[in-house]
Amino acid sequence: RHFLARIERSNPELNALVTVTADQALAAAARADERIASGSAGPLTGLPIVHKDIFCTDGVLTTCGSRMLSNFVAPYDATVVERLSQAGVITLGKANMDEFAMGSSNETSWYGPVKNPWDLKKVPGGSSGGSAAAVAARIAPAATGTDTGGSIRQPAALTSLTGIKPTYGRVSRYGMIAFASSLDQAGTLTLTAEDSAMLLGAMAGFDPRDSTSVDAPVPDYVATLDQPLAGLRIGLLKEFFEKGLDEANGKLVRDALKVFEAMGAKLVEVSLPNLPLSVPTYYVVAPAECSSNLSRFDGVRFGYRCENPVNLIDLYKRSRGEGFGAEVKRRIMTGTYVLSAGYYDAYYLQAQKIRRLIADDFEAAFKEVDVLMGPTSPTTAFDIGAKVDDPITMYLNDIYTIGANLAGLPAMSIPCGFLGGLPVGLQVIGPHFAEGKLLNVAHRYQ
Ligand code: GLN
Repeated sequence: RHFLARIERSNPELNALVTVTADQALAAAARADERIASGSAGPLTGLPIVHKDIFCTDGVLTTCGSRMLSNFVAPYDATVVERLSQAGVITLGKANMDEFAMGSSNETSWYGPVKNPWDLKKVPGGSSGGSAAAVAARIAPAATGTDTGGSIRQPAALTSLTGIKPTYGRVSRYGMIAFASSLDQAGTLTLTAEDSAMLLGAMAGFDPRDSTSVDAPVPDYVATLDQPLAGLRIGLLKEFFEKGLDEANGKLVRDALKVFEAMGAKLVEVSLPNLPLSVPTYYVVAPAECSSNLSRFDGVRFGYRCENPVNLIDLYKRSRGEGFGAEVKRRIMTGTYVLSAGYYDAYYLQAQKIRRLIADDFEAAFKEVDVLMGPTSPTTAFDIGAKVDDPITMYLNDIYTIGANLAGLPAMSIPCGFLGGLPVGLQVIGPHFAEGKLLNVAHRYQ
């Protein structure tokens, strides 16, 4: 009731939630009370959270921020939703997001922009912008998100939250509407690393319904939060501290590194020579996969359908033309182009090769260091409207986050200070399946 009242008061201004499931939440809360009374409660029983509207929720509108799914009531729960519900978590509602998770500012949503609670003129980041704004404004204690190229970490940085993108394959993608299947991964946006550890432990693990989910036991992330950091080898990503990083922003990140030094960690400069190619590589690979994934939205079986189609081609053309927004269309067209005969070798194949080189760079770095650190985002939150007409500038927001997705690595953003009243994030990247180490590092810092 506390959070539902806060949603009622703040959501009309913030636009963080697309759907509020008040009745279901109260019913789930009553069930949680029973579990507590009967002594069968777990640590998450009764915890209210919001889910990014990319996760299918049984019987509840699941829009993915798009007009295309503005009428779509999912017939089943995503694995993430199912596992958290089984742990006793209560769903308060569904969070606004960039359309089909394509964006860095939550401005491509069919449901309009989300405001950053720290400054209502600014964006909260994206694409998990509604999740970030909801937790930052304390209208929910925690949220789920997804990260294909930075969509958990960048909004976490811009709203002073802890965000974790796990290793590719750690969390099931079943029921998570696909953007770029080889990059998409679900995670959390929370106030602390401890909260993230609790939620991730419940979400993660093998799922036979996702062929890329990894069949490996989920460690107890809470148990290792307090491990000392003496002797930890921290790699400073040379490429991340070079041009493009706001100076004052960089200073806050360096100050955070000193805190780790004081805890006994050793700082080592490392270079990942192919990393500067991550943005162009991502903007070939991600659109290619999206052009294929989004071909299922044709107006026939579910989702938006145009009015009075005259024939099948007209149905396809107008349903997709009216159902998708400009950014989604840009990606579908780019993706179709790079996959087309004649251009496949020049773009898609090259991008796949560079992706491998970037992954190899990371692998080499992790022979020298335990974790890598650097900024999450080149700047603090920018004005709503400032970059909407300039896709390239918008894409460059993800310059620090995309590498981890291309290599499938776990990565976090943790708050490391404020500049002019706006939050700054520190990024920590680890080797595959080092979520426990990342959460430990974040927890000790916090
Ligand atoms: N901002 C990036 C994009 O627009 C990443 C989005 C994401 O991680 N879902 O594709």
